[in-house]
Amino acid sequence: MAKQKNYGMVIDTRVCVGCSACVYACKSENSVPEGYCRDWVVQETNGTYPKLSMENRSERCQHCEKAPCVTYCPTGASHYAEDGTVQVNRSRCTGCKACLAACPYDARFVHPEGYVDKCSLCKHRLDQGLETACVSVCPTKSLNLVDFNEPDQEALALMNGKEVYRQKEHAGTRPSLYWISARNKPGV
Ligand code: SF4
Ligand code: SF4
Repeated sequence: MAKQKNYGMVIDTRVCVGCSACVYACKSENSVPEGYCRDWVVQETNGTYPKLSMENRSERCQHCEKAPCVTYCPTGASHYAEDGTVQVNRSRCTGCKACLAACPYDARFVHPEGYVDKCSLCKHRLDQGLETACVSVCPTKSLNLVDFNEPDQEALALMNGKEVYRQKEHAGTRPSLYWISARNKPGV
């Protein structure tokens, strides 16, 4: 029997140039309606003048291992998939927004058709053995898909010896996205 997958991402902010190719690829792949997005790029300045550093980050649902959106969804529409991702079953979603209130990452929106939508980590592509749309177009390889059940991968090795963080760990959500800090850039 094939080993079960446990997908997540390693995002190397050292090389992100903020081009938003990931955002447009996602919009096109997932037919995200005008005015909404499943992923977005943040630009953050850290440090104290004159020692400042800038980080570009492509953000999305963190596919939490302990996802409050799943806990608080009253209909079971938000659920864990067998591959470690968090998914929304549109037909069971009533659009009540309990998950929007529960998500500490502001990763969800109400689709104009009435159900709640968010990054699915391109599950339809993963199921075919493909990478996510955002990963496939990122020109600098800032975005890396990982299967945490296959620990020998290049993307996991990329984190070795670097300053790596997960977002809002204090919320206890155990996010599946790992960020290599831009503070690892030479000269920072
Ligand atoms: S496509 Fe890659 S380089 Fe461009 S904004 Fe997204 S993560 Fe950054
Ligand atoms: S980031 Fe938000 S929407 Fe995504 S799994 Fe975590 S709580 Fe749910």
